[in-house]
Amino acid sequence: MTTDYQIRLDRDACEGVFACLVRDDRFAEASDGLATIGGRQGGSDEDDELVVTFTDDRVAEARQAARACPVDAIDVVTEAADE
Ligand code: SF4
Repeated sequence: MTTDYQIRLDRDACEGVFACLVRDDRFAEASDGLATIGGRQGGSDEDDELVVTFTDDRVAEARQAARACPVDAIDVVTEAADE
């Protein structure tokens, strides 16, 4: 099932543990040793928070990455939640 959702990555909170990478391969190590989001379809950088919107069937993987993050640096927000 295709879902519209955002992945929000707080790079200020990220500690480079990389538990997220093995759950969802869109997360990658950036040159500064912190996580970034690959495969970006648009997005914005504000105050070190990456917000990237996806429309696909991979929201479960993103949620697993969010749950695995020991510092809660990842949020997954679905936009169709109240339909
Ligand atoms: S699991 Fe969390 S702390 Fe670790 S790299 Fe990913 S976002 Fe950063």
